[in-house]
Amino acid sequence: MTDEQQKEKRPLSMTRRYRRGLVIVGLLCMLATLAAATLLFQRSYTGQVDAYLGQVCDSVAAGYKAQTSHDAATLADLLPENDAALRFTLIDGDGTVLFDSEAGADLAALPSHADRPEVIAALADGSASVTRESQTMQEETHYYARRIDTPDGVQVLRVGEDVATLWVLSADTLPLLCCAVVLILLATAVLAWWLTLRLVQPINHLAENLDTIEADVPYEELIPLARTIQTDRKLREDNETMRREFTANVSHELKTPLTSISGYAELIETGMVKSADVPTFAARIHKEAQRMIALVSDILQLSELDSTQASQSREKPVEVAPVDLAALIKETAQNMTVNARKAYVTLQYNVQPATVQGSKDLLTELATNLCDNAIRYNQPGGHVELRCGTGPDGPWLQVEDNGIGIPQDSQARVFERFYRVDKSRSKATGGTGLGLAIVKHIALLHHARIDLQSQVGSGTTIKVSFPKA
Ligand code: ADP
Repeated sequence: MTDEQQKEKRPLSMTRRYRRGLVIVGLLCMLATLAAATLLFQRSYTGQVDAYLGQVCDSVAAGYKAQTSHDAATLADLLPENDAALRFTLIDGDGTVLFDSEAGADLAALPSHADRPEVIAALADGSASVTRESQTMQEETHYYARRIDTPDGVQVLRVGEDVATLWVLSADTLPLLCCAVVLILLATAVLAWWLTLRLVQPINHLAENLDTIEADVPYEELIPLARTIQTDRKLREDNETMRREFTANVSHELKTPLTSISGYAELIETGMVKSADVPTFAARIHKEAQRMIALVSDILQLSELDSTQASQSREKPVEVAPVDLAALIKETAQNMTVNARKAYVTLQYNVQPATVQGSKDLLTELATNLCDNAIRYNQPGGHVELRCGTGPDGPWLQVEDNGIGIPQDSQARVFERFYRVDKSRSKATGGTGLGLAIVKHIALLHHARIDLQSQVGSGTTIKVSFPKA
């Protein structure tokens, strides 16, 4: 992988992501609040302007109506003097402008106001409020018009005021707003920094204290992760202990026959053995070597099973084929006949049709190991029976003997590597202490269950039940 690719593959920084997210959210909230506040302010401000115009117009109109004459001069006398911002216009019922406080005497230049919306609406409804955009974006004009019914005819009094638009108002406060935005952004950044620090700190603490990870988990969202890490650690520790124990056991088991072989060989080499005894010593060397070969082949078998299991758990299934258990049992019994005869044990089989999906070689190994144990841990005159069949839960295979039996407290441990109830008996009969560990492994690979029933002095029955095909 090139440096470039490695850089691309680096995970994102959670802190940076959260900080950025928090600042963006803060900014968006602030902008939304600002926009909403400005709009509300503008609405309330223009509402007030309209209300004020209405009040002024209504009071002037009331005063004007009460006068005896109804013309421009009468209105001019009534107008408040210092309110230059307001524009008063008196319009006749036909639209002719009778008075305008901004146009003064130059009334002739003003066009008819009959088409103005506020005039039309006031004539129809009595009063009207209208807002008109001015040419520029800077201002808008608010009008309030009221109909006055005089004895001389209908007239309309209109009051107008130019009001700065939202944009102008905003522009005025822009520097202040910018300052506020910067300050709030700074505050958000500091808050985001503090929050993310608080969020990440317990996670870092967790990574440094993996031993107590499950008890110390700070957020409930992290419980599954903590659980996985804990289980994984436990598994790795167990595996490590098992591996260490296994290595120590293997070394010990190999050392004993090797020491004997070396000792016998040395005696022969130094001439301390009479030539008549040499064959006896050679036979002992041969026996010890045979034990070592058996042990090494069992270790190899176990390590092969270990790797098969590992590859199977990686979703690569073992090569399976239908295996006829009845034929397999018959074959095993035939192969073990000599051993049984040597131990003065009768060997029988009783088979019903049964087929298992699995590996024939491994299943033969399983049956042979069970049968071998049943013969070796037996007494002269004892018997061993191999059986198989198909039950409601699936096919099964069973090896039954009336041998020495296994004590209750050892029954769960006999499947452990190198565990033996009686070490000297196992060694004397050529046992490696790995037979049942191999059986357990093979059963596991076939998803089979092992049931052991045993009583000291009465015998042992081991049943392997396979899942339904
Ligand atoms: P070994 O090579 O010593 O036989 P195994 O793993 O096959 O190792 O068996 C472990 C131990 O379980 C044996 O040492 C023996 O004590 C006990 N055991 C196994 N099978 C039987 C049996 N059929 N009857 C009595 N004891 C048994």
